[in-house]
Amino acid sequence: MSLQDLIPVVNKLQDIVTTTQLADLDLPILAVVGSQSCGKSSVLENIVGKDFLPRGTGIVTRRPLVLQLINIKAEDARKVAQYSEEETEVDLEAHLRKQTSKTKSSKDQVREWGEFLHIPKKKFFNFHDIRNEIENETARIAGENKGISRIPINLKIYSPNVLNLTVVDLPGLTKIPIGDQPTDIERQTRSLISEYIAKPNCIILAVSPANVDLVNSESLKLARQVDPTGKRTVGILTKLDLMDQGTNALDILKGNVYPLKLGFIGIVNRSQRDISENKSLEDSLFAEQQFFASHPSYKTMSNKCGTRYLAQTLNKILMNHIRDRLPDIKAKLNTLMGQTEQELAAYGDTPANLNDSKEGRGALVLSLMTKFANSFVNSIEGTSMSEVSTKELCGGARIYYIYNEVFGSQLASINPTHNLSIHDIRTAIRNSTGPRPSLFVPELAFDLLVKPQIKLLEEPSHKCVELVYEELMKIVHNVCSTGIGVELNRYPRLQSKLIEVVSDLLRERLGPTIKYVESLIEIHTAYINTNHPNFVGAAKAMSMVVEERQRQMEFNSKDKLKLASERILNGNRSDSPEENSESEKDSDGMDINEVDDVIKPVKHKKTDSKQNGALRSDSTPTLTGGTPHDSYLNYFFGKDPITHQQYLQTQAQLNPTPFKFPQQHESTLKFNSSFVPNETNGSVSPDMKALSLSDSFDSDETINELSEREQLECELIRRLIISYFSIVREMIQDQVPKSIMCLLVNYIKQHIQNRLVVKLYNDVMFDDLLQEDETIQMEREKCVDLLNTYREASRIISDVV
Ligand code: GDP
Ligand code: MG
Repeated sequence: MSLQDLIPVVNKLQDIVTTTQLADLDLPILAVVGSQSCGKSSVLENIVGKDFLPRGTGIVTRRPLVLQLINIKAEDARKVAQYSEEETEVDLEAHLRKQTSKTKSSKDQVREWGEFLHIPKKKFFNFHDIRNEIENETARIAGENKGISRIPINLKIYSPNVLNLTVVDLPGLTKIPIGDQPTDIERQTRSLISEYIAKPNCIILAVSPANVDLVNSESLKLARQVDPTGKRTVGILTKLDLMDQGTNALDILKGNVYPLKLGFIGIVNRSQRDISENKSLEDSLFAEQQFFASHPSYKTMSNKCGTRYLAQTLNKILMNHIRDRLPDIKAKLNTLMGQTEQELAAYGDTPANLNDSKEGRGALVLSLMTKFANSFVNSIEGTSMSEVSTKELCGGARIYYIYNEVFGSQLASINPTHNLSIHDIRTAIRNSTGPRPSLFVPELAFDLLVKPQIKLLEEPSHKCVELVYEELMKIVHNVCSTGIGVELNRYPRLQSKLIEVVSDLLRERLGPTIKYVESLIEIHTAYINTNHPNFVGAAKAMSMVVEERQRQMEFNSKDKLKLASERILNGNRSDSPEENSESEKDSDGMDINEVDDVIKPVKHKKTDSKQNGALRSDSTPTLTGGTPHDSYLNYFFGKDPITHQQYLQTQAQLNPTPFKFPQQHESTLKFNSSFVPNETNGSVSPDMKALSLSDSFDSDETINELSEREQLECELIRRLIISYFSIVREMIQDQVPKSIMCLLVNYIKQHIQNRLVVKLYNDVMFDDLLQEDETIQMEREKCVDLLNTYREASRIISDVV
């Protein structure tokens, strides 16, 4: 491997350093040091092989110039040049310049250019422009009047004619401040120069003019300070042509005068006159060669003199230097490669790899599908612990909430006698009994009236299905924003298809579920089961109505009967006027739970209800005195009032709690009054509260027109409706969630995987489904490029070692 080949590695690594911001690769650089006008810029220009550095007498270099020379192949150079010509020709001036440069370049057929860091992407094909830009940029920062600045100018030169070197041109060492220079200019320039050459990986080109005694060389003095053993300092003797006649620098060049491990190299640059006369570099290099070859003192060692030899030497030195640094660089490169590989792995396999086999793509689609389905099921079951939200209810918990809180309270808020006026009830009773009044409770009327009330349950049930459906939809969409989402985000098409298919499945199930739930309600309206064990029953309801009615009458008339009753009831009703008002409140604002209590008595009521039930079922057929049914019949048929007394006594024993009576229900009560939840008076038996007589018969004029019997019948029907409705409501509250679980939630859980496979697992679709997200694709490509750069660098390094 040739010497030049090593340098692209360096440049590459330098690019890596810049892109990855790993500043500690510490690549070797070359820096020229020397007193003002000793020929530093000229030396650099010769190495580069181009006229582009500002040179001349006086202080010209006033900012460090970091110059990266990059060797490119001639064809590449031509390509770039052509491309660039097409690109940049925008005005007449550019066009003319192109014409002139074309004639110029047609001579050597190659182009080279410079790029400044401070003007990214602009290629300078004209090296005069580069020089101008350096001068302008120097003046911009360091001012017009001989001031200096530490801020470097960064320039890259691309050329087929340069060796790969990174070099730094530095301001010359001066003693006396001139122009805008500060009084401590000497100290400032020294510290600026030292900053560059003190770095252990800097190769110092210590330039000394041959026409000044070496013992006065400022550059060697400064170089020795930072490189005492002289192992990285190259001595350069310029102006050999200007030495006094008869003198030569042979001793110095042979290393006999000043010990430098890397030796001294003699150079002849262009003189100021050559510069003024625009002597070309080629000519001057040729002249330099001629000078050494023909010089009596140097011709024996002319192959170790001159710019060309300097360049070779520098390259060799540089390579050795890099070689020392390689293990370190390699280690860092490996770390970077590891990191990049990891990053790449995170983006998943390249689609190209997947395309290799249909099975591969199929397996990927299937696995993503399965993960999606599992993730969906897990969020319903609440097993996706890592993603359980602490902020809001989600997934299964939310469905549970819908059932218990939303649906439950919606059912509870239904007034069982909504939209049902006493007039409706009376009409229904009259219609159902036909021309003759019925002897018993008009069951047909109850049947007729309760059915529309049951229909009231339909809307909340419907709503419940929809809420669960919406929740499931939400889960489907949320699946992609959790765990699996990271993988799926790579394939936006697959993601949207998965959502689409599951949404379709959900939509499909919505209709049947709603239909089923509706049929549940319909079923309950199809047959009114008055034999339901929890149904209060006509007999008991009637007995209560009668009883309360009786008491009310007693209370209102304040006659002997009332006193007698009071005696019988152990004086429990001595405070009745007060309770009266409460009872009125209770009945008007009857809570649905109180109604439920009628059906399913709470703890302390259990015995009562059982006893009542037993009483009813046992005694109804016998029609013997003292039973509720009996008293109802008695009332209707005008039997002995003593029986009522007996009944009241029984009732008082069964319900030892005091009764409440309405006090001022005249103005407020109606059948269809809305059921505003109210505080429960614990002392009142729920049975009595629920079925209390309270609310019906006064204010409404229609009511007053009713006969006593009709009033009782209406109240009876009303109570039966409330009781029966509560039974159905309880069943619906139980059955609707079960149906939804069965027909919607569980169905989806069971069928999601299968459905996804049927709809999406298809050879023809894989390509489309696995089309990657563009940004991820780009990220991965970037990653691959980077990795390739690292690998290439690593390969080259391995070759070197
Ligand atoms: P710098 O200040 O160290 O960068 O020096 P320059 O490269 O700007 O050169 C200063 C002056 O010395 C210029 O006029 C050059 O032409 C001249 N010069 C530099 N090297 C040589 C040389 O080897 N021979 C001759 N005759 N003149 C030189
Ligand atoms: Mg200079």
